[in-house]
Amino acid sequence: MTVRCAECGGSGDSAGHCRVLFERLLALEFSHVEPWGPLHGLTVAVHALQHPDQFAATDPTGWWTSLHVYVAHGFESAARMWAGAPGGSGVAPFTDTPPMAPKPAAFTVTISDVAGPQQDFPASGHVERVDRWARATHAELIGVSA
Ligand SMILES: [Zn+2]
Repeated sequence: MTVRCAECGGSGDSAGHCRVLFERLLALEFSHVEPWGPLHGLTVAVHALQHPDQFAATDPTGWWTSLHVYVAHGFESAARMWAGAPGGSGVAPFTDTPPMAPKPAAFTVTISDVAGPQQDFPASGHVERVDRWARATHAELIGVSA
């Protein structure tokens, strides 16, 4: 049976599917192995922005800035920011982050899409799937369709 996530709109086999996938992804990222490890700052930001109720205690500004810097200035700039500001909410060298639109009821690309057909985040194509997830989410959160 397929259940839609109440927060991001992604489909899975249980209501907690996104959380299970996110924990699976974190385990890969904490191995610090490419392609997963270097994308940690970005995937946490996108996942949190798509699931604000799960991260309600944290100000989303840092995540939105992380995502915007990645999309507008590229991975290298974002990686430098993450290295200097753990958690992405420290002093950022960029001030052009636009305001964030209200979250849509469902996002076009969700963590389930990033996980792939076997839902196990295969290395092949991972960077491209995360990039698509990030860019679609960014476009939807500034109110411009992807
Ligand atoms: Zn979800």
